[in-house]
Amino acid sequence: MNKSTLRDRFNQVIKEFKQDGSRLVKELRKLLKEAENAEDVYIVGRLNLQLSIAYFDLGIRNRILPHAVKAVDIFEKMDDRTMLARSYNLLGIAYLAQENYQRAIDSYNRALATIKGQKKPGIRRDVMLNNIAECYYLMGEYQKSIRLMKQCLSLIRTKYPEDHISAVIYGINLSDGYEGMEQYEKSIEVLDDVKADADILERDVLLWGYYARRCCALYKLGSMEEAERYADLTIEAVNNGYDSYEFHRDFEKIATMEIKDCDYKRAQSFADILLKYADENGHTLDLIISKRVQAKIFYAMGDMERALGLFVELNDLYEKRMQEENAMQYESQRNAEVASREISKLMQRIRDSEEKAERDPLTGLMNRSALVSISNEFIQKAKEHGKKLGGVFLDIDYFKEYNDTYGHAEGDEAIKFIAEVCKGEETSSVKFFRYGGDEYFGAVLDYDDRALEALALRIVEKIRAAGITHARNPNGQRLTVSIGIVNVDMKESDETILDIIKYADKALYHAKDRGKDDVFAYYALSASEHEYRRIVAR
Ligand code: GH3
Ligand code: MG
Repeated sequence: MNKSTLRDRFNQVIKEFKQDGSRLVKELRKLLKEAENAEDVYIVGRLNLQLSIAYFDLGIRNRILPHAVKAVDIFEKMDDRTMLARSYNLLGIAYLAQENYQRAIDSYNRALATIKGQKKPGIRRDVMLNNIAECYYLMGEYQKSIRLMKQCLSLIRTKYPEDHISAVIYGINLSDGYEGMEQYEKSIEVLDDVKADADILERDVLLWGYYARRCCALYKLGSMEEAERYADLTIEAVNNGYDSYEFHRDFEKIATMEIKDCDYKRAQSFADILLKYADENGHTLDLIISKRVQAKIFYAMGDMERALGLFVELNDLYEKRMQEENAMQYESQRNAEVASREISKLMQRIRDSEEKAERDPLTGLMNRSALVSISNEFIQKAKEHGKKLGGVFLDIDYFKEYNDTYGHAEGDEAIKFIAEVCKGEETSSVKFFRYGGDEYFGAVLDYDDRALEALALRIVEKIRAAGITHARNPNGQRLTVSIGIVNVDMKESDETILDIIKYADKALYHAKDRGKDDVFAYYALSASEHEYRRIVAR
């Protein structure tokens, strides 16, 4: 499968099945398999990110995490900031869904750090701040939540004045925070600030959220009549459309205050909404909230028998909830670990095939692009431990003539043979590369000068000793090579691999100049002076 068609199909699937969540998931999973086989890491990352979003939209909370973890892993390695920030955001959402607030905050903060200083971050700062504020709120850290929500509101006012939906959400959340701090007047003030935005909204979901929040704040302030008016507005808006659980905390608060006020009829309306919702989605937490409200109503009305029955049921539900929470924490940890392992395996497979691509097909030696990555590794090690890094530059003598005399196929054989001789010297700290046509370069970590010289001499001697006929080579009518070496102390030097190659190449050129079939070393005498030394066996 070629990469561009995978990409096209990815976009097409998202467009085509936007409205059909379960189908979308199915198609995305299919593509994911293909993309993994094709080793198209970018698309694998995009697909994982999209799957976590799709599961979130479907309300399948425990599936969000593994895909978000994989997306984060991949985009971290690919250094794609926009996608990485989005993935961290989803990871935060996944942890939030599992009520793991601290991890959720960490993930959101990473998303923020990732987009820092980006011109086109691809994800909004206010969205991240709101998410973090929500976690703090749920942890009971109202002050932190308030501080962040204020930033959100001012951000949106200056940057996205047309985004009324976000303004209302942020207003509701900030008002919630103030209520947590028992600053009820401030709580109403914020809602006044976003009233104009709420009036423009057509989305009932948010509207009843706004009304419910206002109702709560008014009760707390003791404005009973106003509060009741907003309670009725909330119920009316809910009846117009109701598909979110996000504002249930407020419903419970409203019902509780109505019970205190002996307004059992209104309290029962809210209890009914909560019960209906809990029945539909079956989440234990929602069941607890709804039964708790109902029990309080029975109790206040003096119906002790039914109240007691519900309290017993509630005890069981609390127990169940505790077990679920423990399982959720465990599952979350396990899922994240499994996902991480799967991605490491995929990345290893991709590294393997990249390594294949870094090898020269004729000789099996690594090529020039591998030289850069491996020598960087060597240089880093050499610098860390104050070691030497050596360069060995090798070129076949009179190779044009060899080709001309014996043909290109024979030439290839000679190139392969010399590669084999080089490979014979390879260890974990000696690596040879095919640098060009008849040129080879060896990077040698932590050899002293004598050892490096000996290595070069061994190669020259082995090739001579093979006695491959080369009639037009004046040095014994056999195949020979010339070598230039250098050994640089990396302790205080800031030389790069390019410098080392350059010095070794100069020494090689010197060897060619002096009649070939020889080894010369480049020695730096001072910053501006150097000399060449002919290397002979000692
Ligand atoms: P010198 O002794 O100064 O190095 O001279 P030379 O003839 O070896 O000259 P040079 O190194 O510039 O020539 C390299 C030749 O190697 C030119 C090219 O035809 C040949 N060559 C490059 N790659 C290959 C290859 O993959 N196979 C074969 N058979 N020949 C190659
Ligand atoms: Mg040559």
